Amino acid sequence: MSTFVCAHCGSLFEDKNPHYNDRGVCFLCLDCALKLGKCTPMEYLDAHGLGIYHHAEYNNGKIIAYQKWGKGYRKDELEILG
Ligand SMILES: [Zn+2]
Repeated sequence: MSTFVCAHCGSLFEDKNPHYNDRGVCFLCLDCALKLGKCTPMEYLDAHGLGIYHHAEYNNGKIIAYQKWGKGYRKDELEILG
């Protein structure tokens, strides 16, 4: 088990936690990876076990995620802290 420091916010995380790894030289916690556009909102949700969404957008600290719901979509808002 290894511990990494997020290159952006300095938070510590373990390699078993979802994170972003750029060629083994730059590590980011997933929140920062999302904010910096290094991972997509869908990847972020999947990493947190939220694979139920059809598509998602990231905007101003929030993920707007859409689930198939009948003939349309149901919208969920998830606030990303930090
Ligand atoms: Zn971070």
